[in-house]
Amino acid sequence: MTRNESLTDGIVYLVGAGPGDPGLLTLRGGELLVTADAIVYDALANPALLALASVRERDQPVELHAVGKRGGAPESAKQHEINQLLIRLAREGKRVVRLKGGDPFVFGRGSEEAQALARAGIRFEVVPGVTAGIAAPAYAGIPVTHRRASTSVTFVTGHEDPSDDNGGSVDWSALARAGGTIVLYMGVTKLPQIASALVAGGMPASTPAAAVQWGTYPRQRTATATLGTLVSEIERVGMRPPVITVIGSVVSLRDEIAWFEHRPLFGKRIIVTRAQSQAATISERLAAAGAEVLEMPASRIEPLDPAPLQRAIADLKRYRFVIFTSQNAVRIFWDELLASSRDARAFAGVEIAAIGPATAAALLECGLSVDVVPERFVAEALLEALRDRRDLRGARVLYAAAAGARETLEVGLRDLGAVVDRVELYRSVPDGAGAAALRERLLHDGADLATFTSASSVTNFVAAVGADAAARVPAASIGPVTSQAARDAGLRVDIEAPQSTIAGLVDAIAAHYAATPVNA
Ligand code: SAH
Repeated sequence: MTRNESLTDGIVYLVGAGPGDPGLLTLRGGELLVTADAIVYDALANPALLALASVRERDQPVELHAVGKRGGAPESAKQHEINQLLIRLAREGKRVVRLKGGDPFVFGRGSEEAQALARAGIRFEVVPGVTAGIAAPAYAGIPVTHRRASTSVTFVTGHEDPSDDNGGSVDWSALARAGGTIVLYMGVTKLPQIASALVAGGMPASTPAAAVQWGTYPRQRTATATLGTLVSEIERVGMRPPVITVIGSVVSLRDEIAWFEHRPLFGKRIIVTRAQSQAATISERLAAAGAEVLEMPASRIEPLDPAPLQRAIADLKRYRFVIFTSQNAVRIFWDELLASSRDARAFAGVEIAAIGPATAAALLECGLSVDVVPERFVAEALLEALRDRRDLRGARVLYAAAAGARETLEVGLRDLGAVVDRVELYRSVPDGAGAAALRERLLHDGADLATFTSASSVTNFVAAVGADAAARVPAASIGPVTSQAARDAGLRVDIEAPQSTIAGLVDAIAAHYAATPVNA
């Protein structure tokens, strides 16, 4: 059979997932995940990348196959099954992404899969990835080469046991003499034998050495020692795979250029409880500051009966003012406006107030610039900003609200003489999904902080995980109203943002930990 006879539309992409940090996936890898029909992934590929598969709307959901355990034992049988699976999926005409940790051709058996595909006449392409042997050291502040410290680097698998009868296929004493950097994959369990073999081969026991566990992940840990002491140091700190070991004088550079572990929130596990649709910004900011973010949607947004809003929109010209207090309200209002065949012109002659900059930005995206934004982002401040407006007397004001929102605004506006129509656009409801897992995680691993951006996020979080689990985590709140709700729910509020925005909250969290250093 020639290769062409068995060619189908199916194709397998052997894609490197990178070492863990999702940002280290290549653009090509990302594109392929978005368009794949099936994804076959390893335990070492960060599962967060699978979210890319749902970016695109599809007729058929993407087919996901988890294969391969870390350090899995009966590999040969396993590998054969994986090969067969790839071949079958491709023969079904699918675009298959075979997602492998790091680089697919570096100790990943990707090359064996390519051989199996070639032999079966299946089309395939290879998308290299950022390998853990370079990335994990880099994130620990260790360059694998340096003009003055090391001009060569050897990647070695530590699966080879130097004390085996056949001695393994690695010539450890040659490596010991070569003098460059040694990067060991899969080597933690065999490290005692490997270290002895290197010392026996003439490498000084005083050579700097480091082990990096879960490199590039927020939970990355680094142990530094010497070739002679690394084994006991790894034991002392209790490090288990996945670990990359680096041996060579480049390790000393870490003292000067470590960076990842120095970011303000490194080592902090922080729960983000915003409704899922809004969680991204706060999570991104916390993660950028180094935190391990547990995104636990405590609530989701549920639009309410649109009839009152539709009536208000039909009547829009009769209002002097429309007040928005959240991006959700803007989004729902705008969708309804468009659905009624109107657009931004419907706001002609109507002034707009927003509670804060994020709400104002959401309005601007709809082509609406805001007339009033208070200096502090709470209802009281908005009222303060409107206080001098004599023209509010007798004016009609539309308040686009969330169900259950406080009445402060209406009461205050009425005191100013305005006629207020409150229209409730949506309600935020507890999201059952993930609640049990969140509770487990809290009771088991704990967390350093939970962030709250509204009173309802507090209520929903407590309802989701239970008051006992919730009370174990200190709260970071976006402002005084949310803080009060948290205290009322039995939580301890350690942090309150002086500026009630997401950025203000993240800054306040960073400032809190800067005052109590993480690595102290
Ligand atoms: N193809 C992969 C390597 C697969 S072998 C790559 O190019 O990175 C599996 C070994 O890689 C693990 O035993 C461990 O030594 C290393 N490894 C993979 N990801 C790692 C990570 N995030 N941190 C530390 N070591 C990692």
